[in-house]
Amino acid sequence: MLIAGLSQLGEAFLDLLYPRLCAACGIHHPIRDAALCVSCQLELPRTDYHLFEENPITRRLMGRFPLQSATSMFYFVKDTPIQHLLHRIKYLGRKEAAWSLGRQYGRELRELEPYAKIDLVIPVPLHPSREHQRGYNQSAWLARGLAEGLDRPVRERALSRARKTETQTHKSRQERLFNTEGAFLVREPRRIIGKHVLLVDDVMTTGATLEACALPLLQAEGVQLSIVTLAIAQD
Ligand SMILES: [Zn+2]
Repeated sequence: MLIAGLSQLGEAFLDLLYPRLCAACGIHHPIRDAALCVSCQLELPRTDYHLFEENPITRRLMGRFPLQSATSMFYFVKDTPIQHLLHRIKYLGRKEAAWSLGRQYGRELRELEPYAKIDLVIPVPLHPSREHQRGYNQSAWLARGLAEGLDRPVRERALSRARKTETQTHKSRQERLFNTEGAFLVREPRRIIGKHVLLVDDVMTTGATLEACALPLLQAEGVQLSIVTLAIAQD
């Protein structure tokens, strides 16, 4: 545990010294103004789900709440550069990579009918104590990038955590649903009335967290909801 902590610290320190290395492979220099090098930009596993009205994300969420559209930029594949990318974004301070990829994806999405009609971008919040510990919320950085690419506003604090949820890594789907149910509140719901909201998270697994955020958002009158995540993991 201590050794893992030290090596993370070491990598974080190296990232500080050489911030211009690709956020996925950590070897090559990124393309100008981007987070990824040329080969990672080409080889990271894109889903292209945004091109399909029905896709594995919409199917996973179907029947749980009303949804306009949903997509994920990448497949999560263990022990590949996409896992390293997500790890660096989440734990090693490479938040600018989330912003940069969000902006890139937002520019692609705004050309497409359901996403072109988005009014507002809202990230899934971290619990304040976890955000304080980490120093940032990676989903908020992704949301900022998407908002910039879509040319729409972001409301980073629209959702808040009602209570701390335990880490979900080792829980079954049923436990996760129970664990996150009712965990989110909408601040100033009148500000989202009649809006098409884009809900943003870093990784989708079962969709329990997205569902727990979607339900209170959809309680505001006339809200339409779409979802974007950076990666989708297997159930
Ligand atoms: Zn690379």
